[in-house]
Amino acid sequence: MMDRLDVTVEDLKEAILENIKNQFRKTIDQASKEQIFQALAFAVRDIIIDQWIETHKTYDEVDPKTVYYLSMEFLMGRALGNSIINMKVDKVVKEVCEELSIDLNAIEDMEPDPGLGNGGLGRLAACFLDSLSTLEFPAYGCGIRYRYGIFEQKIIDGYQVERPDEWLKNGNPFEVRRDEYGVEVRFFGDVRVLKTPNGRDKFIQENYQSVKAVPYDIPIVGYDNNTVNTLRLWDAEALVKFDLESFDRGEYHKAVEQENLAKSIVEVLYPNDNHYRGKELRLKQQYFFVSATVQQVINKFKQKHADIHELPDKVAFHINDTHPSLTIPELMRILLDEEELEWEEAWDITTKTCAYTNHTIMSEALEKWPIELLSRLLPRIYMIIEEINRRFCLSLVNEFHLDKEQIDKMSIIMNGQIKMAFMCIVGSHCVNGVAVLHTEILKKEELKEFYNIYPGKFNNKTNGITQRRFLLEANPKLADFITDLIGDEWITSLTHIKKLDQYVDDEQEQKEFMKIKYDNKVRLGKYIKKHNNIEVDPRSIFDVQIKRLHEYKRQLMNILHVMYLYNKLLENPDLDMIPRTFIFGAKAAPGYTRAKLIIKLINNVADRINNDTNIKNKIKVVFIENYNVSNAEIIIAAADVSEQISTASKEASGTGNMKLMLNGAITIGTMDGANIEIVEEVGEENCFIFGMTSEEVINLQHENSYNPWDIYNNNEDIRKVVTQLINGFYAPDDPDLFREIYDSLLDGYGGRPDPYFILKDFDSYKEAHKKIDATYANQRKWAKMAMLNTANSGKFSSDRTILQYANEIWKLKKTEVIMEK
Ligand SMILES: *Cc1c(COP(=O)(O)O)cnc(C)c1O
Repeated sequence: MMDRLDVTVEDLKEAILENIKNQFRKTIDQASKEQIFQALAFAVRDIIIDQWIETHKTYDEVDPKTVYYLSMEFLMGRALGNSIINMKVDKVVKEVCEELSIDLNAIEDMEPDPGLGNGGLGRLAACFLDSLSTLEFPAYGCGIRYRYGIFEQKIIDGYQVERPDEWLKNGNPFEVRRDEYGVEVRFFGDVRVLKTPNGRDKFIQENYQSVKAVPYDIPIVGYDNNTVNTLRLWDAEALVKFDLESFDRGEYHKAVEQENLAKSIVEVLYPNDNHYRGKELRLKQQYFFVSATVQQVINKFKQKHADIHELPDKVAFHINDTHPSLTIPELMRILLDEEELEWEEAWDITTKTCAYTNHTIMSEALEKWPIELLSRLLPRIYMIIEEINRRFCLSLVNEFHLDKEQIDKMSIIMNGQIKMAFMCIVGSHCVNGVAVLHTEILKKEELKEFYNIYPGKFNNKTNGITQRRFLLEANPKLADFITDLIGDEWITSLTHIKKLDQYVDDEQEQKEFMKIKYDNKVRLGKYIKKHNNIEVDPRSIFDVQIKRLHEYKRQLMNILHVMYLYNKLLENPDLDMIPRTFIFGAKAAPGYTRAKLIIKLINNVADRINNDTNIKNKIKVVFIENYNVSNAEIIIAAADVSEQISTASKEASGTGNMKLMLNGAITIGTMDGANIEIVEEVGEENCFIFGMTSEEVINLQHENSYNPWDIYNNNEDIRKVVTQLINGFYAPDDPDLFREIYDSLLDGYGGRPDPYFILKDFDSYKEAHKKIDATYANQRKWAKMAMLNTANSGKFSSDRTILQYANEIWKLKKTEVIMEK
């Protein structure tokens, strides 16, 4: 890097020592690890800040089109280590730490993991920001500065217990409050319609409550360039402070109301993943950050441009799932009521500016807000949605010649509810799915009526992950191994990793690859010893399922298979099998009773098996508490086997599958989501594929002919395992503890058989596991397969995904930032 302002060991050392002195009145020997973290973080932030300023100076001069990626969730993971790596100051930092006798890993562990997201959707947003900065695209992430992120999971007596995530307790060294960009956001009240002299209606919201939205900016450092984009998280404050004046005017009540509204809006992230619940506070959150973002973007646009019609040339709003869908009517509101445009021109600008990503086809996840709630909370926004729908339905008649029944199916407003996905499709110029299969199901099944009338809007953007965090940072040994063999181009252009292909048959490199995996397994083993007090053997196969706990992801099938293996070992303790360590990590939504019971089952099975000396340590089961980005980085580097076993058609894409493949774990999986594309890249012979296809699942659902009892009655292994759920084998004190799970497998929900087809897929899952065992016995074969997985993961970089979004949806231009010396 030519232009980088060089950071010397001396400068950084001095900065850290100064920070410790000035902030804590201490010397380095007296400082706590937390204080050293703070001092180092502020020193690193000071290095970032010049590039951050320069980036925005460049944007100010060039005035490029900019994407605003609106998302309720950003699952960022820790910033310190990632910033150090992306700034390429890792060597300097290491040297400084050595000179000061600082244990860098221990210091990095002091940083709370900013968990402002649930799972894949939030992590995708975080990977996208990393890629946007690395590829030098002008971008903002826009979200909410939740006081409490995703809960901290404790396992107590085998049960999940939730604790609040106080991630801001010690402040956040990476954020900057930007009071000057504060805007007002209004809720409730009535809309009065005024006739103006020119005959135009004027809409005035009255008797509303409002809050002040104040942004906190967090730097997003590009890799080895000068680009530092911004994650802008909105905080809420009372607009009217408790001042004497307002008391005097009898506005005490109003002041308290605003204070409460502000506090409650940004209090906590909703912990549901792929599941919608129509809570008023959630809708407030959505409108709060959407309105703040749109208002502020328009204000900024108008400082430079006189003609609002040019908005789509300079601004792209991206709607990450329907959570920020109010972007569409909010932009319409500003264009109509404040810019005083005609409906048609406002609509043209809005649809050209907005694009929407669909993340799921599961009906329980589709957002539908009751009219009663939305029209009360956001009266003017509701009027606009009604008008959007009125005109849309009219077009269905006049342009597309549909009949009443067809229109009722597609209407945005129906049966007292507003269907947010429909509004997003109508109000955006572009709608994308997140993997090929998912997009095809959207077009042919879930959204086919919309695809028929707007075929050009629909397209696919297969998800990706950033190799900077999930290989370079998470697995430094493998990263060095790869760079030594093929150079470091893979860091910014992952398709280059394909060059590893030429080494997959090389015995020496195979051994080295397996040695690195072994070392990473030792590292994870230490983590497990410390957190679970379980000894695991790094020579055993590390079989990993890490993801949110959801019935469709089928952690239950995994643990039933473990129970089956254990039964086999009890029958024959000398059974010829390679020792296996089954590792789980998963948070369940606090209200998702069945998911929480599955966690309890996994832990009870773990307890029994781990403490049974008869089976000679052939199986260990580990449930890693509080799965998050930081421990994901450790687990992924150590995985041999990647469990991607969702019921086909249910997982839109998955990204955990990609992180594990990149790190040389071999997938055992169904033909679902991006697994299909993984198989396409690496070859089916280098994965363990099993189970029904999505077509078979969808057909079986339509036929309604699945009968799990037939399988139960005819398959002794399955019967034994399923019976153990209710005979006290894993819950001697309460044999009925797991009866609900037993019922779910056999009788399903309300008489409908298990929609996840666990028993149906069980046998082929079992066979796939047998193949894993046989393959691992041939270490050279395994090493080759694992290396091929790494070598063929190039497609799954979020850099590729972001390039596609930037070129095909947002029409962004790379904007290089050059530092002035
Ligand atoms: C990648 C990631 C996910 C998504 O995992 P899937 O297997 O795709 O569901 C969830 N949580 C965390 C912490 C992640 O890093």
